[in-house]
Amino acid sequence: MKQFFIIFFIFLSSLSFAQQTDYVDFTHGMVKLEVVPDSNSISGMVAYKFDIKKPVDSIFVDAENLDIADVFLNNEPIAFNQLKDKVVIKNQFSTSKDNDVLILYSAKPKKAMYFVNRGEHKQVWTQGQGKYTSNWLPSIDDVNDKIEFDLLITCDKKYEVVSNGLLVDKQVNGSSFIWHYDMQKPMSSYLVALAVGNYSKKTETSKSGIPLEYYYYLEDSLKVEPTYRYSKQMFDYLEEEIAVPFPWQNYKQVPVHDFLYAGMENTSCTIFSDAYVVDSIGFNDRNYVNVNAHELAHQWFGDLVTAKSGEHHWLQEGFATYYALLAEKEIFGNEYFYFALFDTAQELGRQDVAGEGTSLLNPKSSSLTFYQRGAWVLHALRSKVGDNVFTQAVKNYLVKYQFSSAETNDFITEVEKVYGAKLTSFFNLWVEQKEFPFDSAIHLLQKQAVKINEYVMVDCEANSSKCAEQLTSYISDKAKVRIIAQNPQWVTKDAFKNSLKVRQAIAQYMTVIPKGLKEEFESLLDDKSYLTIESALYNLWVNFPEERTKYLFKTRNIHGFSDKNVRLLWIVLNLNTPFYEADNKAALYNELVDYTSERYDADLRINAFNYLKMIKSCDDNCKKNLENAKSHHNWRLVKFAKELSEQLQNKN
Ligand SMILES: [Zn+2]
Repeated sequence: MKQFFIIFFIFLSSLSFAQQTDYVDFTHGMVKLEVVPDSNSISGMVAYKFDIKKPVDSIFVDAENLDIADVFLNNEPIAFNQLKDKVVIKNQFSTSKDNDVLILYSAKPKKAMYFVNRGEHKQVWTQGQGKYTSNWLPSIDDVNDKIEFDLLITCDKKYEVVSNGLLVDKQVNGSSFIWHYDMQKPMSSYLVALAVGNYSKKTETSKSGIPLEYYYYLEDSLKVEPTYRYSKQMFDYLEEEIAVPFPWQNYKQVPVHDFLYAGMENTSCTIFSDAYVVDSIGFNDRNYVNVNAHELAHQWFGDLVTAKSGEHHWLQEGFATYYALLAEKEIFGNEYFYFALFDTAQELGRQDVAGEGTSLLNPKSSSLTFYQRGAWVLHALRSKVGDNVFTQAVKNYLVKYQFSSAETNDFITEVEKVYGAKLTSFFNLWVEQKEFPFDSAIHLLQKQAVKINEYVMVDCEANSSKCAEQLTSYISDKAKVRIIAQNPQWVTKDAFKNSLKVRQAIAQYMTVIPKGLKEEFESLLDDKSYLTIESALYNLWVNFPEERTKYLFKTRNIHGFSDKNVRLLWIVLNLNTPFYEADNKAALYNELVDYTSERYDADLRINAFNYLKMIKSCDDNCKKNLENAKSHHNWRLVKFAKELSEQLQNKN
């Protein structure tokens, strides 16, 4: 009977909790929180103001695994019921405005707030989308309740604290500072953010006067320019293109260690993976420009207007992807823009062939569908209705639903209003139907971009007689890369005179290097690209054993990206080159094992583990680090560690 009772209870409570926004509107949240990085803990309080729209017998605030000490309702202590993920307050609430609920709590969060070690330093950061902010802050998981937050964060003086809104005050409190961040407009709780670490910042001002703050680690001052390159240009461009002023007081960007995603668009405070912090060489291979533009576009599409539920997720991701692409077009040109659309159309086509395509309105769609098909809808729509109608409709949509939420039909209605006619069949084709309209997409691109036509026609597998010639002609780099990937043997001396990207393809695909091209191939080691250097070093080392010492000596000081792609390869090649630095082998091996330790980020650790597996040398320290990796917050590392440790055990 007990079991039945529990099931019944859950059923009842989920029913009564489902529509809280119909009865209750939380309007303001004042957060006072002490963050203690050394003990992975937080404690403090949150005070919400709320209105009762219709009489109701209880209200709740989401709180996952938090220790709730006390609750006060309108300044009086009140009994509360703490469930695993909620605090419920029973009371006869009648229609009223400006009630107060105060919740005192503490926690050692396991999710949504992460305490990480970065080398010798500690860092704390949050991720509220897909994880629920209520794991560290009693708040409202329902994205449709928009709240104006103020955050007062207390933390040891040695750390910088970054959060949503404007820093209006920073007070000394013993050995701590109290950082007071103020938001003036409401947002969904999943967008509340906190980053605590050792940072400096550089500030620029947008054309419209918005402060743009670029955070960076103290030792990374030389990486600020390449990492944040084009930030202001993209900000000014998007503000003009979207035609609705940036909605928040300022815009901050903070890199964090071992982040779960590429970036997250917390309101006025984007947090992104420090793997995107690059030097001027890394910029050529793996820069932050796309993620930068994407999270910035979300400040309007997602933060200002939020999708009501999962089936309208493309209103956030599709728009952010499309506007990021427009910003990149502004910087890298038309060819870049059309090839990006061409590539994603191919991926969407392949997804359908694999039987995995879904309607854009299916809440279980893949990221590819939400992001890229979403972007395609907007490109196709703009091509159909024209720039003016499109821009006006998007503007109307944003203004009408600002600081609130919307669904797909709300957007369609705004477009049809400005267009002056129904667009039913268009939206059926691009949004609703299961298959991505691949043929229409490619046809549209072929009309819009000559280079796409040319690319489609260049095919060395079908006709190889012209390939060598084409590699030195004026066709697009993209087409040249395709030729090299298909037939690297057509590469001649002249083909090396091409751009960085084409030379990169030569480094990657030409695994057999003819003697006559040795000198040209060696010149790839001087390219301003860590990907090119990595591939060139490997292929030269394999092809010309007698020159191994020379290649290792030349590249001995290059580390590559933050995942040390060049350094790790270099160590492994060195360990396999008996006469080069014979005394140094043990130290190099230890260095490689050390990269598997907790102090380094997930990608570097995975790379190091992979190399150790390849050379069959995962020693006790490596195994200890592998064991420890299984309990990391990054699921990719956990999955990898479990698989590798199983493989190692099977061998024993
Ligand atoms: Zn996004």
